[in-house]
Amino acid sequence: MEQTFIMIKPDGVQRGLVGEIISRFEKKGFYLKAMKLITVERAFAEKHYEDLSSKPFFAGLVEYIISGPVVAMVWEGKNVVLTGRKIIGATNPAESAPGTIRGDYAIMVGRNIIHGSDAVESARKEIALWFPEGVSEWQSSAHSWIYE
Ligand code: UDP
Ligand code: MG
Repeated sequence: MEQTFIMIKPDGVQRGLVGEIISRFEKKGFYLKAMKLITVERAFAEKHYEDLSSKPFFAGLVEYIISGPVVAMVWEGKNVVLTGRKIIGATNPAESAPGTIRGDYAIMVGRNIIHGSDAVESARKEIALWFPEGVSEWQSSAHSWIYE
């Protein structure tokens, strides 16, 4: 089944939104396959966002991501990459619909509280970067109540 990489950014942790965010993915029916609270080094943040290195906001983005602990997670489920992006909402919270995480809890694009992989291939790369130790293989006993 498909997996995605989700990260609660330092502002989401500082603002006490960890439980709320995890709850949304959990209640949807996605399975939590890995999770850790970690403060990353500058070089690691630059690697995670390497595709954006030429953007004018890159330096500020890296400062933001290394400014405190983040919660790194792997979530699994059918279409979890695309559906995860919908649960998160548009990049700029000014354009994120109410009911999405960013739409409900954020105001500024540079303080948008959460990251989610944008494609299956980037999810694979991000999971390998953040969880070189691998992820859990557990299976939910609720599976047949979520999938027909
Ligand atoms: N970002 C920013 N200013 C911008 C665009 C993006 O500070 O004009 C930050 C924002 O935190 C965003 C991150 O850079 O979440 C990565 O940008 P991307 O376009 O990949 O957005 P995302 O995939 O996070 O929605
Ligand atoms: Mg992105």
